[in-house]
Amino acid sequence: MSDEFVYDGSVLSCLEMLSGGITCFNDMYFFPEAVARAALDTGVRAVLSIAVLEFPTPFANTPDEYLRKGLAARDRYRDEPLVRFAMAPHAPYTVSDDTFREIAKLAAELSLPIHVHVHETAQEVRQSLEQHGARPLARLAGLGVVGPDTIAVHAVHLSEHDIDLLREHGASVAHCPHSNLKLASGIAPVARLLAQGINVGIGTDSAASNNRLDLFGEGRTASLLAKGAGGNAATWPAQSMLAAMTINGARALGMDRLIGSLSPGKQADLVAVDLSAPELAPVFDPVSHLVYAAGREHVSDVWVAGRAVVRNRQLAQARAQTLSSEVTARCAVWQNRIRSTVADGS
Ligand SMILES: [Zn+2]
Repeated sequence: MSDEFVYDGSVLSCLEMLSGGITCFNDMYFFPEAVARAALDTGVRAVLSIAVLEFPTPFANTPDEYLRKGLAARDRYRDEPLVRFAMAPHAPYTVSDDTFREIAKLAAELSLPIHVHVHETAQEVRQSLEQHGARPLARLAGLGVVGPDTIAVHAVHLSEHDIDLLREHGASVAHCPHSNLKLASGIAPVARLLAQGINVGIGTDSAASNNRLDLFGEGRTASLLAKGAGGNAATWPAQSMLAAMTINGARALGMDRLIGSLSPGKQADLVAVDLSAPELAPVFDPVSHLVYAAGREHVSDVWVAGRAVVRNRQLAQARAQTLSSEVTARCAVWQNRIRSTVADGS
């Protein structure tokens, strides 16, 4: 894993997201400068991570080094309006108490959101009880990590008390239904979260555990899963799902005054969806159609900060067009290299 590898993977992801109508993403990964370059080269808005783990990776060796490199990336891209940063302690089982405290302090000083995988699996909750004598959210709340700028990613295995903690601290949830299903993590209790007024946005998780970066697909699954799991067809109706796919995500990132709805004074991050195809006819309620019938293949035009990035289903900017063919070719080289490394056992 290297800067170059992360750049190419991120370009692929940015192009997939843009052509599917995703105008802004929040990432949690290493080599954030590579992801920043990919976002800027393709024209998507990004909230990148100052990722921290307790153990070494090809990016950094110690929590201090992760923080130092992440903060340096934030400094370097300080003047780029489309790029922001968030603190990203990976998960309760990969980050120590001391590191969580340091991250909470930095996040407060720098006014940064905290993106953390939490309560993703039953195993994670069991392990936390054994090792820390507390469930992950209770432990993180005790360390000062849970607040209105916290994004609890996955949040699948939640007790009533866990949900109370999220509500009391005003934290947001990034609900990732396809990843939770594919990894057999479980079904998040979204109806209970919504009933408590908790801000729930929709996430894809990474392409490595999904395998699509497809907000339309996630939104439809999330709505259907919530209805089926609770035995109530009225759960998570289309209008509320559209909010989860747009403004709730912006709110989770602390960006709801800038993006997330069509309002005077906001940035023009816009998606046009062509509802004229036969499989979408007839259209009585466009919002219901967006959630239950349309897919990312119906996205025709996309603007980020008022700049056209997709026009009539084609990438609109010359740089992104060139990158699209270059990176697809480089991806074949990466694919062969990975295959031969696996075959070698090296
Ligand atoms: Zn995840």
